[in-house]
Amino acid sequence: MTEDLIRSLIAKCSATIKAHAEELTALDQAIGDGDHGLNMARGFTAVAAAVDDIAVLPFGEALNKAGTTLIMKVGGASGPLYGSLLMGMGKCVTDVPRGSQAVAAMLQAGIDAVKARGKSDAGAKTMLDVLIPVQQAIDAGRGIAEVRRTADAALTATKDMRATKGRAAFLGERSIGHLDPGARSSALLVQAVCDLLEGK
Ligand code: ADP
Ligand code: MG
Repeated sequence: MTEDLIRSLIAKCSATIKAHAEELTALDQAIGDGDHGLNMARGFTAVAAAVDDIAVLPFGEALNKAGTTLIMKVGGASGPLYGSLLMGMGKCVTDVPRGSQAVAAMLQAGIDAVKARGKSDAGAKTMLDVLIPVQQAIDAGRGIAEVRRTADAALTATKDMRATKGRAAFLGERSIGHLDPGARSSALLVQAVCDLLEGK
């Protein structure tokens, strides 16, 4: 049932973000302003608090409402960016997508919204450097284990990148050698959804 799925997704994602808030903050202390954990925890706490209103909606509308909640509740760049991701995905679907092609199309719509909002693309050392390879793996029909590996490898690859978007871009060359905080939160969310799909 869609309502149960939405409840599980919200519970899993918000628990993951809360459990890793300090780690996300530490990553953002290295190349940003040290608020990514707090921003993400605040946003996902707000989504979790609205679960009774969100879970009764059709899947696409639920994504949209979760996205607008993130945009309203999070001050940092990541709120509007993750909000755009969810709203872009929500506009693409009515019901829960069935099959990897439908999931890939939904994620692509979300990525396009993040690109537009952030005026960014792959290679700028952001969340997009995890989301784009994950979308490509799903689009290529890869299984859950491969999607997980793709997310982790893509996160690791952000370490050697030089940031050209977001606060980390102010550091220029000095952003090299650190994982991107938003790439880490995206990888965490991908793993959380994979856990759910595998019944973990
Ligand atoms: P802020 O940068 O406002 O402090 P956060 O610390 O919550 O916000 O989020 C920082 C993360 O947001 C970065 O690690 C990066 O992944 C992502 N990000 C920042 N700017 C952009 C952008 N223009 N496009 C895509 N992602 C971005
Ligand atoms: Mg920050």
